[in-house]
Amino acid sequence: MLDPFGDKAKRLVKEEFGGITELLSIIPSYVGIEQALERVSWVKSGEVPRDVLDMGDVQDLLTFYALLGALAFSPYGIEMELVKEANSKIYSERLRRAGRISGTAVELRTVREGDIPPRDRTILERTHHHELPPDERERLRLRYKVHLGKFLELWEGSLKEVYLRKGHAYLTTEQALRLWEKSFEKNFERAVNLLYEVRDELPGYYLQLYERLGEIAREYFKERLERMGSAEAQPLRFELFPPCVKIALGGVPSGLRNYAITVLLTSFLSYARLCPSPSRRDVRIRDCVSDLSVVEKEILPVIIEAGNRCSPPLFEDQPHEVKNIWYHLGFGLTDRPTLEDSGNSTWYFPPNCSKIRANAPQLCKPDRHCRNIKNPLTYYLRRLYIVGRKGKEEENVEGGGDG
Ligand code: SF4
Repeated sequence: MLDPFGDKAKRLVKEEFGGITELLSIIPSYVGIEQALERVSWVKSGEVPRDVLDMGDVQDLLTFYALLGALAFSPYGIEMELVKEANSKIYSERLRRAGRISGTAVELRTVREGDIPPRDRTILERTHHHELPPDERERLRLRYKVHLGKFLELWEGSLKEVYLRKGHAYLTTEQALRLWEKSFEKNFERAVNLLYEVRDELPGYYLQLYERLGEIAREYFKERLERMGSAEAQPLRFELFPPCVKIALGGVPSGLRNYAITVLLTSFLSYARLCPSPSRRDVRIRDCVSDLSVVEKEILPVIIEAGNRCSPPLFEDQPHEVKNIWYHLGFGLTDRPTLEDSGNSTWYFPPNCSKIRANAPQLCKPDRHCRNIKNPLTYYLRRLYIVGRKGKEEENVEGGGDG
């Protein structure tokens, strides 16, 4: 398989297995946990094993989707980074070996005679420089073209690096591979986001696989984790919150108050601060902290202040609503909870975007980061991940880096 998100893979998933849900339900019977892990366990060596490269299409799809299913438990964690990095290498290595990039999710077409005026070719490919060795000549050759719209959607480099003509971008093999990598990354995130919605329905197999991935990822990213501390729970980054949460924080009119403050803000802030990637839905606050000080000092005051910014102020108007906040945090209906009370009621998980749009459409004012996002918490985790990755890239430029 040359691209697990290409047309061939899509056809296989649909025609052979009946769709993604069906595929995920049969995978545990066909793919052992160790077998799925073979796709990532080589990363430290930097070299993709030959049997992984030579895997047949169906086996490739099953083992790849086994890993995707496991990531539904924690999108944007180090497990995702590990799986994405390893699999991007596997597929790009296969594309290199194939010698031709085709059948991928990026609609690349081969450049034909006459597409590029000879004068431009002479300059760009340096065709008159007969002293150039053949591999250098090959490196300069513009072999692929892609529609400009698709290109701009994916390309992160400078436009000056690329030859643009009549609505197309013309690319060398390396540039085409870079574009494919971006497309892989986007499709990968999209798939993990979609699976996040169905994670409660996934067989226990995926949770086991996720835990094993965590072990490999912690080992692989050891240096970074030691330098930066765990990405699990960390102080809130308000600037990375989704628009709906920012609107709730600013205070809302009376008809929206209870939903914005008690349902959305309380669940979002508590999970984002205490347990950003819960591996199960019935997690309790006492599973994540050893005392209530973070809740009392960092979460509750933010909720109370946002409530007081509402018109009329929520907690002045309805003082008993504080009990309801504790109830939504899982402590039962109380205003003097202890850690042991955690679990007396359900710790409400942030509602999905579709629910927010249905119940409080005024809160959903999507920005560009909301694309493909299904839950405000994944929006936040994604932005944290991107900011963290940028930090890592800067560190690498300065000579640091790991993995
Ligand atoms: S799309 Fe989702 S995350 Fe974005 S503003 Fe709407 S509800 Fe919030």
